[in-house]
Amino acid sequence: MAHSTRYTGRFAPSPTGPLHAGSLVAALASWLDAHSHGGQWLVRLEDVDVPRCIPGMDHVILQQLAACGLHPDAPPVWQSQRTHHYQQALEQLVALDLAYPCACSRKDIEAALQLAGAEKPRHGELVYPGTCRHGLHGKAGRAWRLRTDRSVSKWPFPHAGRAQAAINSIASETPFIDWCDRRLGAQRQDVAHAVGDFVIQRADGLFAYQLAVVVDDAAQGITHVVRGEDLCDNTARQILLQQYLGLPTPQYLHTPLVHGDNGEKLSKQNGAQALDTSTPLAAAQSLCRAAQVLALPASPPPATAEALRHAQAQWLETWAQRYP
Ligand code: GLU
Repeated sequence: MAHSTRYTGRFAPSPTGPLHAGSLVAALASWLDAHSHGGQWLVRLEDVDVPRCIPGMDHVILQQLAACGLHPDAPPVWQSQRTHHYQQALEQLVALDLAYPCACSRKDIEAALQLAGAEKPRHGELVYPGTCRHGLHGKAGRAWRLRTDRSVSKWPFPHAGRAQAAINSIASETPFIDWCDRRLGAQRQDVAHAVGDFVIQRADGLFAYQLAVVVDDAAQGITHVVRGEDLCDNTARQILLQQYLGLPTPQYLHTPLVHGDNGEKLSKQNGAQALDTSTPLAAAQSLCRAAQVLALPASPPPATAEALRHAQAQWLETWAQRYP
């Protein structure tokens, strides 16, 4: 894949359902930001989590985007065709002793956490207590986890030489990942404590979103990530992986979410309605609603091209100035 220092943005939907009003906001914002910077806008189908993907949904999403006039500047990329790249990244991490095999089932983790009197899960995810960090104790490895503690002195690092030099360059005095969101400002996370050693290859052999997204953002030369605020919390994990793999960190901007009548964020999981792009007018109306979520005052939408032109002019006056 071609690299470029030119602004390169992307929209990375998971084909687990059709686009809904919330996903269109992320698609539109990433498209507007790319176009306002004179950059290119790519689409990546994130179909790594095969059991959750619905056959044919990738093409539905591409059609919905096309109906809204959101055309990628290069052919879309499918993560399911890029497994060997994720494998290579995993091998690189293993060679540096930054990833280790884990034999724990969810039940094992829950039991270990309970024994340690540990707190409740965070966003439904358990903070891994580190059971397999120092070896499998005769058990069979099921998944691979990332070592998130960046303090070298605490690692039982068995190798010397080149790998040690790489580790030294990663080692950090501070446990925090500090980064700045273009819209939300300064962000800080101690990944080891907040999330723990997280899974990068699952027990079923599938690569985890965190690893795939980092490998692909780098491979596609993504300079700017614009996506929904629900993904903000993943960013520190992704920056940590970028540091471990020696990859550049893009700039991040997380956009407001769309909430349903029940106050919950719209998502495929809670049955968000598919975007209506059945007619040019319906598509233009959907675009205008997305523009309103981005506080881009919407005008009556005669057609998608006009709605996009209008939103773009507004974006340049507001977001591009406020969040350069
Ligand atoms: N595939 C993810 C989703 O649909 C988005 C990933 C990203 O933008 O980093 O929620």
